[in-house]
Amino acid sequence: MPEKKKELNPQRTHRRLNKAAQSAKAAFTPAAKQGSKKPAAAKKAAPAAPAKADAPRRRAQRAQQAAAAAQRRETAAALQKKPLSVPDPEKPRLRVIPLGGLNEIGKNMTVLEYGRDIIVIDAGMTFPDEDLLGVDMVIPDITYLQKHRDMVRGIFLTHAHEDHIGALPYVLRELNVPVYCTALTAGLVRLKLSEHRDLKKPKIHIRKDGDKVKAGCFEVEFIHVNHSVADACAFAVKTPVGVVVATGDFKIDTTPIDGKMIDLPRLGELGKKGVLLLMMDSTNAERPGMAMSERKVGDSLDREFKGCDGRIIVASFASNVHRVQQIFDVAAKYGRKVAVSGRSMENILKVGVELGYLKLPHDTYIDLNDIRKYPKNKLTVITTGSQGEPMSALYRMAFSGHRQVDVGPGDKILISATPIPGNEKPVYTMINELFHKGADVVYERLADMHVSGHACQEELKMMLSLLRPKYFMPMHGEYRHLMVNASLGRACGVKPENIFISDIGKVLEINESGAGFNGSVPSGRVLVDGYGVGDIGSAVLRERKSLSESGIITVAVGVDMRSRAIVSGPEILSRGFIFVREAEELMSELRTLARETLENALERGTTSRSAIKETVNRRVADYLYKKTKREPLVVTVLLEM
Ligand SMILES: [Zn+2]
Ligand SMILES: [Zn+2]
Repeated sequence: MPEKKKELNPQRTHRRLNKAAQSAKAAFTPAAKQGSKKPAAAKKAAPAAPAKADAPRRRAQRAQQAAAAAQRRETAAALQKKPLSVPDPEKPRLRVIPLGGLNEIGKNMTVLEYGRDIIVIDAGMTFPDEDLLGVDMVIPDITYLQKHRDMVRGIFLTHAHEDHIGALPYVLRELNVPVYCTALTAGLVRLKLSEHRDLKKPKIHIRKDGDKVKAGCFEVEFIHVNHSVADACAFAVKTPVGVVVATGDFKIDTTPIDGKMIDLPRLGELGKKGVLLLMMDSTNAERPGMAMSERKVGDSLDREFKGCDGRIIVASFASNVHRVQQIFDVAAKYGRKVAVSGRSMENILKVGVELGYLKLPHDTYIDLNDIRKYPKNKLTVITTGSQGEPMSALYRMAFSGHRQVDVGPGDKILISATPIPGNEKPVYTMINELFHKGADVVYERLADMHVSGHACQEELKMMLSLLRPKYFMPMHGEYRHLMVNASLGRACGVKPENIFISDIGKVLEINESGAGFNGSVPSGRVLVDGYGVGDIGSAVLRERKSLSESGIITVAVGVDMRSRAIVSGPEILSRGFIFVREAEELMSELRTLARETLENALERGTTSRSAIKETVNRRVADYLYKKTKREPLVVTVLLEM
């Protein structure tokens, strides 16, 4: 049957093509820059823009573009998949393989391998982009580790942030290997693992800064660093070819809350003896100067508490123990009691106090259920929700869904965090609502309510000049962060040819005679949705996208395949597509169209049920597009009677 040519919605087409072109660019620029492989798939990802196209082509194109956008990471990894890189025990070399955290934010994980030994640094998660509908979290693809599970000697955790420990329950399910970390990290990891009952008893070993751990041919030294969570560390890994330093997330705080500055003397010592490779945090590489000291926030808090005669509610990241400590201290100074709200805040209080990282001022902490016993000007509530998460305590307070705290005039809300990129909208929605309620809201645009936990340019340069590494690999960041960090490396004397901008899955090999990339290993993202790990693929995501944008139309029909006749229906059901009562005409047209299409197919002698369904789906979808310019998911159900 000849299809009539149809106009595409020009705006929509333009938007899609733009998106495809952008993602193609994002995926291929690194490879092209390094002059390695030709971006053969670029053509596929960014098709030419036809002014007119028939329906099947439109659909095919759409599928292709959606796939390109949703899977740009995978595509980039696929480009590097050849040749597949495998360990070679005959010719041992140090192999450095990031499995997450490069050209993306979060899910940090790096593999160090030599001969028959592997150690893993961090096992982080990341939150899904908006195109990953319904996905709870994203974790690294650990196929490579599963394939070489007998070589994995341990997982070393730099600190307790989710982008460094979030994937641990899923990784340990596959690889029951020892985990090494500092006490606070261990406390928070244990809490997290206790939510996964199916895990075999995990082997968590607590180490403190200065400790060294033998793991196969490696020896891993814990070095104290400053960061926005306490007890963070960098690792100096002694390998058969030299020392590798992985900074993890760090900053240089000269006035730290716990009095423990980053161990610069030790780093300097390592530098003097010779560092082979430095892997360094790139998060703030674009920012000049130094990150401000955590103490600065204490001063701002003090200013806000001073003379305030209402209740004060402070929202912060729970894991920032030092911040929580400062809030307690300033509250105590002004004679206020402190209650906490939100599960992660309760957790950190428990673990932090138990392990001695939090010292609650005498007679300050009270139970949240008791806040009514105190006058409002004697109260402080520390809460989660600084990112506007819909289920969080502050969000519920804003939208009157909180059991103990009802925000109103006289309340002062301090948001002691900046919105993580992508969270701006929910955060500001929440702030608007808090203002509506009559509260006074102070957030980062108005005062220094937050300082970053990541090193800025001067700190990064200091690290480079202390360690004086032979090779340098910027870590943790999008491509631009990595590139800017690389330029700092050059400025600090690392030879340009010794700086390696890597990617997830890419293998950097180092031996006595030199260093260079050599192939890749499987890498990418694994999607976690509820109990399902890795069972959501691009086909499911495409369907979810279609459903979320235009709903679903179901064509249900009873047929007798032997007499080749329609016995009942077709019945048209719609969800999320159109309000049926106002579209009676369209519905009856659809019924007629479906009936005719079916009768045609049956008369022609088509026996394949899937071919019949496919024909009906296509005709109905095309008709709906012509009539409404919408593209719902169409599902035909054939009931044999
Ligand atoms: Zn961190
Ligand atoms: Zn991080």
